[in-house]
Amino acid sequence: MNSAKVMALLNQWNMASHDQCRYCWCLPTCNVGCFANVGEGEMVTPEAKLKACAINRSRTHDLLIEYCGVLEENPKAFDYMAEMTLK
Ligand code: SF4
Repeated sequence: MNSAKVMALLNQWNMASHDQCRYCWCLPTCNVGCFANVGEGEMVTPEAKLKACAINRSRTHDLLIEYCGVLEENPKAFDYMAEMTLK
């Protein structure tokens, strides 16, 4: 593994993210973190990250609407999850 390249990618990520993520409503469920989705070639760019963020927020927004719709129809729809355990 090329640690200098890893550090360069992390620095690019931080430069593209540091002012956005801490104010983003989507942070608790964010899955933008894959470098493959926020890069152009071998560079993480603010433009590519903004595009990935917009797609992620839109998808999360749609999922929350769907989740609320299910609960409106059946308030107990997800009660079965209380008994679930992770192995
Ligand atoms: S959607 Fe973008 S801005 Fe929001 S938390 Fe995720 S990476 Fe940060």
